[in-house]
Amino acid sequence: MKLCWPALPDGRGSVAKAWLAFAAFATALPATLTGAPLPRPYTVEHYDVHVTPDLAAQRIAGEVTIRLRSQIDRLDAIELDTGSLEILRVLENQRAPYFEHNGGRLIIDLATPAHKQEVRTLTIRYIARAAKGLVFYTDQVYTSFFTHDWLPSNDRPDDRATLRLLIDPPPHATVAASGRFDGTAWLVESPTPPFLFAFALGDFAESTTQIDGVTLRTLGKANVSAPTAEVLHFFAERTGHAYPGAVYTQVFTHGKVEQEAVGLTLLPESYGETLATHPEDLWLLAHEFAHQWYAVGIQCKDWSDFWLNEGLATFMADAFLEHRYGKTRYAQEIERSRTLYEAQVAQGKDRPLSYTEWQTSDQVGGAIPYHKGAWFLAELRRQLTDEVFWAGIRLYTKDHWNTAVVSNDFERAMDTAAHKDLTKLFARWVF
Ligand SMILES: [Zn+2]
Repeated sequence: MKLCWPALPDGRGSVAKAWLAFAAFATALPATLTGAPLPRPYTVEHYDVHVTPDLAAQRIAGEVTIRLRSQIDRLDAIELDTGSLEILRVLENQRAPYFEHNGGRLIIDLATPAHKQEVRTLTIRYIARAAKGLVFYTDQVYTSFFTHDWLPSNDRPDDRATLRLLIDPPPHATVAASGRFDGTAWLVESPTPPFLFAFALGDFAESTTQIDGVTLRTLGKANVSAPTAEVLHFFAERTGHAYPGAVYTQVFTHGKVEQEAVGLTLLPESYGETLATHPEDLWLLAHEFAHQWYAVGIQCKDWSDFWLNEGLATFMADAFLEHRYGKTRYAQEIERSRTLYEAQVAQGKDRPLSYTEWQTSDQVGGAIPYHKGAWFLAELRRQLTDEVFWAGIRLYTKDHWNTAVVSNDFERAMDTAAHKDLTKLFARWVF
């Protein structure tokens, strides 16, 4: 069964109410009838954001102008993810439209319905406070995954947009953010899922080093330039694709964050301390760096194929450890993934890697995409031989760079490299 977008009545306020009623109806349906949520009937093309963080008050004053394009005729209203944001004002062409805001959703009535492909612009002024996706300390603040906690957005990977992020930092704070800094603002210039937008600022020590035209930048107490350079070389060679940016920044923060973003990774400062005494503990550094290829460079089309981000990043970290420390270390890492996956099977929680029954982003994580993903890739490598497997990885990477992918894209690349039909193998593990 497929749910159609509801035909909504005209009238100020009625659109939002009808929409909310529809959303409540859809949520109440059993999972077998709903599966993954339908894409929203518009796509955001660009977010132009200005944030002013206040560390003492633990809040951010924000304003975003969102340029979006209707995907249907008669688009009456726009639904955005807003987490726990306080919405102060909404404008469409200098006029204040009717909006409703609750349950982490902002629904804005458009002044007149938009035609298919028509572009509209909305400006939203808001306040963001500490939340899952926005972490404050007295001397630093950073974002993590839940972009709707600091930016009103269509926070789904099926809606990729560009970003201009202007940050007014407190005096003396050091700043890192997604994308390229143009001297004024941070720019993400390829359409990207919002969960890969991020920033961190605070009282960080800063160091930089140059390697093959890439600036490796570190904020916080960690000495990671040498191993990061090694990982950079290894991934460029194995994937056939050079690191895509001019700068790669790793920020070592308070707390427990482990988060990739465009050209940026946030890691716990405790991990930086661990590396000082256990320099061989490079799995996390390599896993997060691998996301610059598999998450940022090639993006899963929606959460259904999240394993193409996490399984590949986990496996690539294992492969780097093999390269650096030998086959025994690789075997240990793969065995760890197999054990974690088998534990899921024992608990009756096995599921296909391509998982189309999710309904919220919280349902797509866990051991399956990471460890079933890595274990499957290790098995694929074992069956295909090294030469064929890595040729498949390079083909997948070359053919899909800067695009959004599904599991079939990965299967086709492996089929081509292997000169055979791998349908049965993928049917067992992926679908
Ligand atoms: Zn990851």
